[in-house]
Amino acid sequence: MEVKKKDIRALSKEQLRSFFEEQGDKPFRGNQVYEWLWQKSAHSFDGMTNISKETRKMLEDNFVINHIQVDQMQRSSDGTIKNAVRLHDGLIVESVLIPTDTRTTACVSSQVGCSLDCKFCATARLKRMRNLNPDEIYDQVVAIDKESRLYFNRPLSNIVFMGMGEPLMNYKNVLKAIEKITSPEGLGMSPKRIIVSTSGVPKMIRKMADEEVKFGLAVSLHSAIDEVRTSIMPFNATFPLKDLREALEYWYSKTKNRITYEYVIWEGINDTPEAANALVKFCKFAPSKVNLIEYNPIDDGEFQQASADAVEMYTNILERNGITVTVRQSRGKDIDAACGQLANKS
Ligand code: SAH
Repeated sequence: MEVKKKDIRALSKEQLRSFFEEQGDKPFRGNQVYEWLWQKSAHSFDGMTNISKETRKMLEDNFVINHIQVDQMQRSSDGTIKNAVRLHDGLIVESVLIPTDTRTTACVSSQVGCSLDCKFCATARLKRMRNLNPDEIYDQVVAIDKESRLYFNRPLSNIVFMGMGEPLMNYKNVLKAIEKITSPEGLGMSPKRIIVSTSGVPKMIRKMADEEVKFGLAVSLHSAIDEVRTSIMPFNATFPLKDLREALEYWYSKTKNRITYEYVIWEGINDTPEAANALVKFCKFAPSKVNLIEYNPIDDGEFQQASADAVEMYTNILERNGITVTVRQSRGKDIDAACGQLANKS
C-alpha cells in the first residue's frame, strides 16, 4: 500500500527536530531542514546541500514540499504585476505586486475564492473552495519578493491581505503565515508593514485584540448604515454594524492602533452627505484613516463610481471631523489586478 506523504511544512521546528530524533539522527538536523524549507524556500529535497544523500532520500520517501508555482505573470502598463499561482491540488489564486516610488507592496490571497458575498466584488463570484495553508500564503510573499528584487532592485517592503478571500475566516493559517513572514527564520519582515483587511468579523477582531497582534487592521466598510451595507455586503445581516463597532472599540482599547477603513463611493448608493456623516459617526471613537478607493467595474454597470464632487464632499466632511482621508487611484486595472477584480480570469 502506498503511504500518503505528509506536507513537511505542516510541521513546526520542534516537530521536525523530534522527527529526526526518532530516526536516530541529531535533532539539529531538524533546524537545518527547517531553514531550507522557510528561509531558503527550497522547492525540493535535492537542493538541501548540507544534508546527506541518504537523509534527503529518506525525506523524499516520507514527505512532499507543496510549493506553489507561479503559472502566469502579467504586467500592467503602470508596473503592477499579477501572478496566477497554482497550488499543489491544481487550484489557482492570484497575488499582486504594487510598486510605488518608495515601496513595493504584495497583495496576497488567503482563500481560494471567498466565503463572503459582496455584490461589487469579482472574487465573490467564485465560491469559496478552500482555505490556503500557511505555506501557500508564505510562498506568495516569497514569489513577490523575488519579483521585486528582479524588476525593481529592492526587496518587498509591505504586505496587505487584500487579495482573494476573507483572512479572518482563515485566521489560524493567516496568523501562522504572518509568524513565518515576520520571524528571523523566515523573511524577517516587521509586522508593522503588514495589514490584514477584513469585511469585519467581530469575534475574530476581538480575538486579534486579545492576542495583541502587531500587524495593522483595515476594515472594508463601504457604508455605515446597516440597511445599505446589508444590501451590498449581505453578511452584514449576520454581523451588523453595532457588533462590528463594539469589536473595533475593543481592538482600539487593547492595541491603541489607528484603524483604517476602506470605502468605495457609488452613485446612488452612498454618495450623500447623510452617508458621509454616518461614516464620521461610526469611526470617530478612535484615530481613523479612511481610504476612498476608486471603484473598479466588474460587470454591466449595476455599480457606478460616484462623481468627483461626491468624493470631494466626503473628503471635506471627514477632514472637518479630524479623520485622515486618502483618495486611492486604482493600480493594475488593465490586467484585472485592482481591488475586487481578482477572479482567475486568465
Ligand atoms: N475580504 C477582505 C479582503 C479583500 S480586500 C476584505 O473585504 O477586506 C479587497 C478590498 O477591495 C476590499 O476593501 C473590498 O471591499 C474592495 N473591493 C472589492 N471589490 C471592489 C471593486 N470592484 N472595486 C474597488 N474595490 C473593491
